[in-house]
Amino acid sequence: MKIASVIVDVPSRQTDRPFDYEIPAKWEDVLQVGMRVTVPFGARRLQGFVVDIKTHSEAKTLKPIEAILDVTPVLNEELLQLGKYLTETTLCFAISAYQAMLPAAMKAKYEKEIRLVDEAYRQKLHPSVQPLFANRTALLWKEIDEPTVLSRLQKDIQNGYLEVVYHVKEKGTKKIVKYIVCPLTKEQCDEVLRSLPANATKQKQLLELLASAQKGLPLKEALERSGASRAAVKALIDKGIVHEYEVETYRDPYEQRHFAKTAPLTLTNEQQQALDAIADSVRKNEHHVFLLYGVTGSGKTEVYMQAIEEVLAGGKEAIVLVPEISLTPQMVERFKGRFGSQVAVLHSGLSVGEKYDEWRKIQRKEVKLVVGARSAIFAPFENLGMIIIDEEHEASYKQEETPRYHARDVAIYRARFHQCPVVLGSATPSLESFARAKKGVYRLLTLQKRMSENGLPTVNVVDMREELRSGNRSMFSRSLFEKLQDRLQKGEQAVLFLNRRGYSTFVMCRDCGYVIRCPHCDISLTYHRVHQQLKCHYCGYEEHVVSRCPSCTSEHIRFFGAGTQKVEEELTKLLPQARVIRMDVDTTSRKGAHEQLLSAFGEGKADILLGTQMIAKGLDFPKVTLVGVLTADTMLHLPDFRACEKTFQLLTQVSGRAGRHHLPGEVVIQTYTPDHYSIELAACHDYETFYQKEMLVRKRHGYPPFYFLTLITVSHPEITKAVAVTEKIAAYVRSQLSKEAVILGPVASPIARLHDRYRYQCMIKYKREAIAAVLKNVIDRYQQEIAQGELQLTIDTNPYMMM
Ligand code: ADP
Ligand code: ZN
Ligand code: ZN
Repeated sequence: MKIASVIVDVPSRQTDRPFDYEIPAKWEDVLQVGMRVTVPFGARRLQGFVVDIKTHSEAKTLKPIEAILDVTPVLNEELLQLGKYLTETTLCFAISAYQAMLPAAMKAKYEKEIRLVDEAYRQKLHPSVQPLFANRTALLWKEIDEPTVLSRLQKDIQNGYLEVVYHVKEKGTKKIVKYIVCPLTKEQCDEVLRSLPANATKQKQLLELLASAQKGLPLKEALERSGASRAAVKALIDKGIVHEYEVETYRDPYEQRHFAKTAPLTLTNEQQQALDAIADSVRKNEHHVFLLYGVTGSGKTEVYMQAIEEVLAGGKEAIVLVPEISLTPQMVERFKGRFGSQVAVLHSGLSVGEKYDEWRKIQRKEVKLVVGARSAIFAPFENLGMIIIDEEHEASYKQEETPRYHARDVAIYRARFHQCPVVLGSATPSLESFARAKKGVYRLLTLQKRMSENGLPTVNVVDMREELRSGNRSMFSRSLFEKLQDRLQKGEQAVLFLNRRGYSTFVMCRDCGYVIRCPHCDISLTYHRVHQQLKCHYCGYEEHVVSRCPSCTSEHIRFFGAGTQKVEEELTKLLPQARVIRMDVDTTSRKGAHEQLLSAFGEGKADILLGTQMIAKGLDFPKVTLVGVLTADTMLHLPDFRACEKTFQLLTQVSGRAGRHHLPGEVVIQTYTPDHYSIELAACHDYETFYQKEMLVRKRHGYPPFYFLTLITVSHPEITKAVAVTEKIAAYVRSQLSKEAVILGPVASPIARLHDRYRYQCMIKYKREAIAAVLKNVIDRYQQEIAQGELQLTIDTNPYMMM
C-alpha cells in the first residue's frame, strides 16, 4: 500500500505537520508529490498538499484520500523545499508557505477545467479521452468521475495536448475569440467542395480558405476574407464540415501597447566590468551574490539587461524583482522593449485572472523572464539562471503578513539551489547588504559615474525655520518658488515630492492641544477635504469633521501638516499658469490611472508633477530639471531604528530624478533639521560617509547588521492581559537565551491600540544563537488561547515595521 503525507489547509500549530493517508489503488500511479488532494479530517473534509509518498506509516489506522485536485504537481521539489525553509526561518505554518507560492486563482473557490491546448491535438488524444472532448474544447474538472480517466488525462497533459486551467470569472476582462477549423483531410475536403451546389460560392471560398489554414482561423477573419455570411458558416457547422471552437486569449494588460525594440548599448568600462563578473558566474553556474552599487542614473538597468541576455543565451530563465511602486510603465517598457514577448509582468495592480495568466505563461515555459514585485520571487521557473533585485534596500521586499519573508533571502535560497548568481542593485544599498559586501560575503561591483554628462544634480538644503523667521509662511521656500518660476518660463519640468497623503495629517485644538484620534486605534485621524471627513488610516474608521474641540469646545480647530491636495491648491494659487499633475493614493486608485498620469507628464502635458512616495523612484523624464522635497523630515522622527537610513535613501532617490539627460538638474530639499547627517549627506550624495556614520549608531545601540532582531507583538482586548502575556514571554525568552542576547520590553507598541486591541511588544536582540526553538515554544504555550480568538501573537524574525 502506498501512503501520502499531507499538509492540510488549516493554519494552526496543532495541524502544522504532515498527516498520513492511504492512497487508493486506483490513484497509485496518478498521485505525485506536490499535488493537492481532499482528505477527511475529523468530521471535516480539507484540502491539502502531498509532501511525501511512502510505503510505511507510524499511524495505526489510515483513512483514504478522497479526491485528487491536480493532475500534475503545482509545487515542484524545489518549491516544496523552499516551503520548509520558510517555515524554519519565518516560523510560519507550512500551509501558509505553500499557499504564498501559488496565484490566488488556484484557491479552491475557482472552478477548474481541462482544455484542449490546440485543435491539432484532438486526434492525438488517448482514444478513451477523445469522446470526452467530442464537440467541445474543454471539460470541467468536476465531470471527471473515473480514476482511470485521470491517469490518461495526465498523460495527455504531460504530452502537452491538454492543460488545466482555472476559471476566474471576472467581468469584462476575460477574452474569448471564436475560431473555425475544417477537420477534414485534403481529399475529403476536395470531395465536399465538388459536392456543394454550384451557387454556394461563398461556402466554397470559405472552405478553400480553411483548407489552407491547418489550425483554423478566427471566425471574424474567416468571414472577412471569404465574404461568407454567418449563415453559411452555420450551414457548414451543421453538416460537420467545419468545427467551431473558442480560444481564451491572455488578459495581457500590456497587449495593446507596442514596445519599440531596443538594442543593447555599448557599455562603459565600469558597466562592462560589472557585466563580466556577473556573466562569468552565469556561464559557470556559480552561485554568488553581487551587490551592484551604482549611483542613480549610472546604467544599472542596462547591466541587468545584458546579463539577462547571457542567461537566455544559455537557455535559462531569470527573475527581476522591482519594488511595487517603481514597477512603473517605464520600467516595464524597458524590459519589454528589449525582450518582447519573453517577458511576464507580475504586480499587485493586476486582477486575479491577469496574475494567473502571467503565472501560467511562466509555468508553460512561454516566457523566459519575469519582471515583478515581491511575490514574483516564487515564479515556478525550473531552470533559473539569475535573480536580480533592483533597489534592494526597499522595505517592500519584506512581506508584512505570514509568511513574513524577505524576498532577498528567498532569492539567495533559490539561487543556491540553482547554482546561479543573485544581483542586488541600488544607489543606496541597505546597511546589511553593504556590510556583507565589505566583508566579502557579497561581491561588490561599483558604478561611480552617471551616464548623463552633467553628473549628479546640485542639491540646496533650505532651512524652513529661517523661512518662517523671515516671514515666509508658505509651504514653499523663496528659493524653491523662484526656481519653479524659472522652470515654467523655460518650459522645463519639475517634480515636487511630499511624503504624505490626504489634505492634512492631523487635527488639533489650538487652545487645549487636543488632537482628534481614532476611538479604536491610538492614531490621530487624517483630514480628507473632499468629503469633509476624518479618517483612520489603520482601521478605516471615519467621522465627519468637527467645528468645535471635543475636549474644551473651543472653535480654534486647526488642520496641521500639508497633504498633496493642499500643496496643489497653494501651487495653483501662487502659480496659476502652471499645469499640475497630482499623484497620490487618491488620484491613482483607479486601475491604469498611475500609468496614464505618468505618460501625460512624459508627453509634456503638465509642468509640475506633485506626489508622494510613489514618484520617488524609477522615473526617467528628460525634461525634469528641478526636484523639490517639501518636507524632508517627516520620516526622520518615526519610532524606527531605520528612520535615518530610510530618509537618506528617499532623499537620494528623489534627487536622482533630476537632470538625468542633457539638461542639468537641481534639487531643493526643505527641512526643519538641516544639520541632521541623513539630510546633509544625502545633499552631497555621500553614501559611504552615511554608511560609516550610521554603522556606528547601529553598533552603539545594538541593531542590525550587528545584531539580529526579533519582534514579538501581543495584542488583546484587555490591557492587563496583553501586558501579562508579554511579560511572561519576555521572562521566558530571557531565561532561555545567552547573556549576549538583549530582551527589551515589554513596552507598549508605538501604536498602542489598534482595532480596539491593546498592543504590547518585546524586542529580542541576539548574535549567533538558535532562537527558533525558543520562539516555537512560545507559540506552543499560547496556541490554545490564540485558537480561542482573544489573544493575538505575532513573531517577526526580521522586522521592518516597528509600529
Ligand atoms: P540606473 O538604473 O542606474 O538608475 P539607468 O539604467 O536608468 O540607470 O540609466 C540611466 C540612463 O543612461 C538611461 O537613459 C539609459 O538608457 C542610459 N544608459 C545606460 N547605459 C548606457 C550606455 N552604456 N551608453 C549610453 N547610455 C546608457
Ligand atoms: Zn480644545
Ligand atoms: Zn482606527
